[in-house]
Order: sequence, then structure tokens, then C-alpha cells
Amino acid sequence: MESIYKSDVVIVGSGISGLMTAISLYPRKVTLVTKRKLGEMSSSAWAQGGIAAAVTKEDSPKKHFEDTLKASSGLSNEEAVKTITHDALEVVKFLEKIGVQFDKNNGEFTLSKEAAHSYRRVLKINGDQSGKYLVSHLIQHAKQQGHITFVEDVSVDHIIQKDNQCHGIMVIFIKMKLLIILFFFNHQILF
Ligand SMILES: Cc1cc2nc3c(=O)[nH]c(=O)nc-3n(C[C@H](O)[C@H](O)[C@H](O)COP(=O)(O)OP(=O)(O)OC[C@H]3O[C@@H](n4cnc5c(N)ncnc54)[C@H](O)[C@@H]3O)c2cc1C
Repeated sequence: MESIYKSDVVIVGSGISGLMTAISLYPRKVTLVTKRKLGEMSSSAWAQGGIAAAVTKEDSPKKHFEDTLKASSGLSNEEAVKTITHDALEVVKFLEKIGVQFDKNNGEFTLSKEAAHSYRRVLKINGDQSGKYLVSHLIQHAKQQGHITFVEDVSVDHIIQKDNQCHGIMVIFIKMKLLIILFFFNHQILF
């Protein structure tokens, strides 16, 4: 418990977003709180299709952005789509740098064309096991980095907020059936 209070940042959830955020915050001290065991009960481990990124010469982040906006029929956040589609290649490069092995043929990414994409731009990892493989690799990498304290089997029940700022979380330690309030006065809390 003491290590939680020594963290700079508290992250809730151990899907791809929680794990990637925790990894990218190195060397800041991070506590990652998650409902079950690491990576369990997450959509991330179920993701099969793969990761979309404009990686070919004929494709571009701009075309990826336009396809995504068109497919969402006005429901998506344009700024978020712009950031995600423009950063996708950098993220793929980062994942390769930490050892993720995307499926390749003669050194080129194996790409599939899915849903509303106009070009082949879906990268896979171990075929249709992309999410499962990625989550387990990120967990392995996160554990090796040594700056993250993992707190498993803890469910966040309530967010304590004032002036639109999160000051703490109310958590249930599932196995002990214990409700505890954790206040983090100097922490950033990410969900
Ligand atoms: C079947 C399926 C297939 C998919 N296929 C693809 C695909 O091919 N390509 C693609 O890009 N996307 C795909 N998606 C979508 C993609 O999986 C999600 O957008 C992505 O995984 C979301 O990641 P996340 O880390 O935000 O959330 P999640 O992976 O869902 O992680 C949430 C984390 O928060 C934890 N948590 C939840 N509530 C609490 C709580 N109260 N207290 C503590 N911890 C809590 C969970 O246990 C989990 O660890 C698919 C989704 C599904 C379900």
C-alpha cells in the first residue's frame, strides 16, 4: 500500500491504453490499479482484427483520417481522430522497438483491408490474436521497466472529485471484500 502513495500517477485499468500509458510514463513512478489480474476483463485481449495505420506509400495519415471520419458519420471527435491517425505509424514503430513482432512477409507488413478503410492498412500480430499477444507483451515489458506498482483485484467504485478534478478513488479489494478510500493529493489519476 505504501508504494501507492509514493507514485506520481495512478492509472486505472490494464487494457492496452492503461499499459501503454504506464509504459510511456517511465521513469515516473506509476501505480496501475486493475479489476482482475493484469490484462484480464479487458476488451484489449479480445481484439482480433489488428491495428490500423497508414504504412504504405500510396496511403497517408490524411487518407486514414478521412476514411475514419466518413465511417463514423459525424459521431467521432475530429481532434482525437486526427491525433490517432497521424500518430499511428509512430506507435507501430514504438511497439516494434519494444519487441512486438507484427506479421510480415518478405520484411513488409502483412496488411488487410477491413471495414471502411480505402487501403490495406490493418496490421496483425499472430494472425487474429493481435489483442491477446499485444496485451501479454505489454505486461511483460511493463514489468521489466520496474517503475510500475501493479495492484490487481481492485475495483474502482467511486471517483472523488471537486471542481472537475479527481482527488481520489474509492476502491473495493475484491478478494477481501474490503472497501477503502484512497486520496491522492499530489497524484494525477488516469482512467
Ligand atoms: C471482440 C472485440 C474485438 C475488437 N477488435 C478490435 C480490433 O481488431 N482492432 C481495434 O483497433 N479494436 C478492436 N476492438 C476494440 C478495442 O479492443 C478497444 O477499443 C480497446 O481494447 C480499448 O482499450 P482500453 O485499454 O481503453 O480498454 P480495455 O481493454 O477494455 O481495458 C479496460 C481495463 O479497465 C479495467 N477496469 C474496468 N473497470 C474497472 C474498475 N471499476 N476498476 C478497476 N479496473 C477496471 C478492466 O479490467 C481492464 O483492465 C475490439 C473489441 C472487442 C470487444
